[in-house]
Amino acid sequence: MPFVLHFKPQIRENSDANSYRRNPIHLRLVIVGIGFGRMKILIDMDGVIANIMPLWLKWYNRDYHDNLKEEDVTDWSIERIVKPECGTRMMHYLGYEGFFRNAVPYPEAKEVIQRLLDLGAEIWFVTKSTHYGRYMVREKSEWIAEHYPHIGQEKILFCKYKSVIPGDLMVDDYFQNLRGFNGIKVLFERPWNRNVAVDHFLSDGNKALFIKTGSWSDIVGVAASIHR
Ligand SMILES: [Mg+2]
Repeated sequence: MPFVLHFKPQIRENSDANSYRRNPIHLRLVIVGIGFGRMKILIDMDGVIANIMPLWLKWYNRDYHDNLKEEDVTDWSIERIVKPECGTRMMHYLGYEGFFRNAVPYPEAKEVIQRLLDLGAEIWFVTKSTHYGRYMVREKSEWIAEHYPHIGQEKILFCKYKSVIPGDLMVDDYFQNLRGFNGIKVLFERPWNRNVAVDHFLSDGNKALFIKTGSWSDIVGVAASIHR
């Protein structure tokens, strides 16, 4: 049941009274503010807030004389999409200096995460640490310090199995990372998971709500559905 615990009037600062009628999301934000408490939201980095594709494909296209675009990557296993002579070598780029540091922020993510923070949510960035990541930890930390300085690099959790982390809501672009998570699971839609069926997740025994969306505004709506 919602209580007025973390309602912050400043959400009105960037909106006027009529904006609630124009944009239902604003109204939902008020509801979220009423019911939030200290909701813990776990957010993936690569493919969710940080776009690693521009540089990854630039380097690949340069080295393998190809013209692959982000929308062409319609499979999580990118080695199946690139030229056979590249194949799993595609993963080597993840170890190059500058790969993670030069990821491009998804602007919508920034805006909505700020709204969630204003409403009292606790944000954690949860990201995998891979064996390709020679520079990864330092560069991801620097990236967060630059693009989300108000949250800070101390809010990054580097791990392999994300689903063991307790939280109310997890946003990820890889369905396997969501498996077994006990809160609400949000698969953030990108070209590489577009063919993943939602009911694919329902077989893991976890009856928690699951959605697939490519809209950050929807995530605010999902958060609003959680009542403490
Ligand atoms: Mg990801």
